[in-house]
Amino acid sequence: MGYTLNVEQVNTVLAALRKDYAVYAPKRFPKQGRYSDTDVIRYAEVETFADIVWGEKSDYPVKEVITPIQQAIFYFTEDEYRESKGPKKPILILARPCDINAQHVQAKIYVGNGGYTDLYYERVREKVRFAMMECGGGDDTCFCVSMGTNRTDDYSLAFRFTPGGALAQVTDESFLPYFAEMPEEDYTPAFVEENELKVEIPDLEDPTVRQALKNHPMWKEFNGRCISCGACTVACSTCTCFTTRDVIYGDNPEVGERRRVTASCQIEGFDQMAGQREFRSTAGDRMRYKVLHKFHDYKARFGDSHMCVGCGRCTHRCPELISISATVNKVHAAVAEIKAGMGAV
Ligand code: SF4
Ligand code: SF4
Repeated sequence: MGYTLNVEQVNTVLAALRKDYAVYAPKRFPKQGRYSDTDVIRYAEVETFADIVWGEKSDYPVKEVITPIQQAIFYFTEDEYRESKGPKKPILILARPCDINAQHVQAKIYVGNGGYTDLYYERVREKVRFAMMECGGGDDTCFCVSMGTNRTDDYSLAFRFTPGGALAQVTDESFLPYFAEMPEEDYTPAFVEENELKVEIPDLEDPTVRQALKNHPMWKEFNGRCISCGACTVACSTCTCFTTRDVIYGDNPEVGERRRVTASCQIEGFDQMAGQREFRSTAGDRMRYKVLHKFHDYKARFGDSHMCVGCGRCTHRCPELISISATVNKVHAAVAEIKAGMGAV
C-alpha cells in the first residue's frame, strides 16, 4: 500500500508511530562534528520530519542504536549483581539499504556464531523493525553497488523523502493503522544502480596468493600513515569488536557497573596476550588484518557476502584520509601482480 504525505502528514504519522515505537533516524547535532564549526549526523530518536536527515549520509551507522558504543551489562555490589535491562519499547529505525544489509552481517556475528548468541545484541535486535529510506546516490566514498548492498527487501515501511514530505510504502500490515486516512498513491521504492566510485574485489581464494599478499610491501605504507586511532572501526557499519570495563561509583571499589565498550583491531595492543605477545604489532599488520577480514575472511566463514557493505564511513572519518576503496583496489592490483608472477593469470 502506498501513500503521499505532506510535511504535516509525515508529522502525524510519526506522532502515531512514536506512541508505540522509539523511532530512530539520522539526526543532525550542530557544532558537534570533527571541528568546532562542523556538525555531526548520527542516529538518535526523532520526533518530527525536521529532525530526519534524509539527504546526507550519517557519519555514524545504525549499529549505534543496537550495540551502543558503551552500555552497562550488569551492576554489582560487594555480594550481588543485577543484569542491565534491554529496551522496553519496540524500535523503528529509518535506514538506507546498505545500513539494513549491514545488520544482516552483524546478525551473523552475534547470533548463533560458534553456538553462542550475544544476549545484549539479541534483546535489542528482536525489538527492531526497519523503515527503509531511499538513498539518493550516496557520496563520493560510497560503493554499495560494488558490494551488492544497494538493495534490500527487509523493511516494514519505505520512504522517499522530499523537502515537501514523503512517499511511503507499507509492506507490513501491522503498520497500516498509522497511515489511516492518509492520501493513497502508488509508490515502489527505487534503489541506487550506480556509484561514482567502483571497487574491484580481489579474488583471494588461493591460499598461496593470500600468503604472498600477506608479505606484499603495500602494507608497509600504512606504518607511516595510519595513526592507529580506531576511528574507522567505530564508524564502520559492520565492525563488532568490544571489550569490557568496570566503572566504580565511589570510594568503595566493590560497587559499580561493568560496561561493554567498543574496541578496535586497529589500535595498538588490541591483540596483546600474556607475556606482551602480539600478532599484529605494526599499523600495516593491523590494516591487512582489517581489510582481509572485510574482503575475505568473513565470507570464508559465513559464506554469502563480504563483510564490508561499501558505506564509505571509514574513509569519511579517517583523519589520515586513508580510503578503504583505494586500499581494496590496491589489493586487487597486488593480487593480479602476484598471480602474474605465479603464471596463473
Ligand atoms: S569497511 Fe568501511 S566501507 Fe566497509 S562497511 Fe566498514 S565503514 Fe563501511
Ligand atoms: S585507517 Fe585512519 S581511522 Fe583507521 S586507525 Fe588508521 S588513521 Fe585511524
